[in-house]
Amino acid sequence: MEKILVSACLMGRRVRYDGGAKTSSDAWLARWREEGRLVPFCPEVSGGLPVPRLAAEIEGGAGGAAVLSGAARVLATDGSDVTAEFVAGAQGALAVARAHGIRMAVLKEGSPSCGALSIYDGSFEGRRVAGQGVTTSLLELNGIRVFDEARLPEAAEHLRTVEAHSRTLET
Ligand code: SF4
Repeated sequence: MEKILVSACLMGRRVRYDGGAKTSSDAWLARWREEGRLVPFCPEVSGGLPVPRLAAEIEGGAGGAAVLSGAARVLATDGSDVTAEFVAGAQGALAVARAHGIRMAVLKEGSPSCGALSIYDGSFEGRRVAGQGVTTSLLELNGIRVFDEARLPEAAEHLRTVEAHSRTLET
């Protein structure tokens, strides 16, 4: 059975920077949880950051790929550099995905780790720009498809395609 990496905060775990969760009540996630497919993971906690913690953004809204290549840092609201923790968290997510043979993920939109389509622009003024978080970038660079929590029908279609392809290879 195909497993799916999922942001722990979407599953109700209180791991966000503000100590809260972002629990999703989506029927697809509920179904996949019942089927035992979901592997919840929080990159920032895995990378060594506490709960609660200061909010952080990628400088200039440059995106996860720029962080991974060393071209941009992740900074907290007090100016401290948390790049190493974010990169460690992304590597942890990739390691967990590989351990489970995971090929797709559902991650929380807007996060500097988990964002799939948008992140904040680094100004801490609530402005979003197109771009990916650090974990999303590393997963996608390694062939793992990432969906945000608003695109679960699309994720379900992708899952069907992947499983149908796997069945074809088995026969
Ligand atoms: Fe949720 Fe990802 Fe932020 Fe952790 S790093 S709180 S899983 S969005």
